[in-house]
Amino acid sequence: MVYLVTNLIIIIMLNIVLFGPPGAGKGTQSEKIIEKYNLMHLSTGDILRNAIENQTPLGIKAKNYMDKGELVPDDVVIGIIGRCLDEYRNKTNGFVFDGFPRTNTQAEELDLMLSEKGLSITQLVALEVEYSELVDRLMKRGQVSGRSDDQNIDVIKNRISVYNENTRSVMDYYKNQNKYSGINGMGTIDDIFERICNTINGHLK
Ligand code: AMP
Repeated sequence: MVYLVTNLIIIIMLNIVLFGPPGAGKGTQSEKIIEKYNLMHLSTGDILRNAIENQTPLGIKAKNYMDKGELVPDDVVIGIIGRCLDEYRNKTNGFVFDGFPRTNTQAEELDLMLSEKGLSITQLVALEVEYSELVDRLMKRGQVSGRSDDQNIDVIKNRISVYNENTRSVMDYYKNQNKYSGINGMGTIDDIFERICNTINGHLK
């Protein structure tokens, strides 16, 4: 008698988009999330800054846009994320996407790249912070980080306008998929982190 035994192994990854305007605290909170849930942090801003520091062709291309607070072209950042997914998908329990997607095209392409690998976004967590607080945080960060785009008030204001004009609508993309959670991003780092964990844990149940 022949027994056919099928072992079906389902791997569920936790893929979080941490969303919000510049200065919302995405980088700070991403670090805490990856530590708690054992995930991998993918920050397109960090990858691009690294490329600029190393003067790679990617960095040279991106610098002009970043200095002005404009978005780097979609195909460039989508390529970066595609390569990271290929490289790390089997080495992690999931990803925290920080600063990506920033346009609806990026969101659509991310869904496509994930679905080709049998994966999907679990949830978008959007940090909500008042305008004056954003400007304040970015100016303060500029004084310690040395990030040039945090040191010029016109570039800061342009980045927030670009967020409102090009990026904010990405929330609707995820709302339509019932994957959106809005979080109050004002208060202490620990308080905000607790709110984020509550929403992630609620989603995991
Ligand atoms: P961030 O560190 O996320 O604030 O990003 C810094 C800068 O990098 C932005 O102002 C953009 O110029 C560029 N950048 C980062 N992520 C993206 C993205 N997903 N799409 C386009 N440009 C990006």
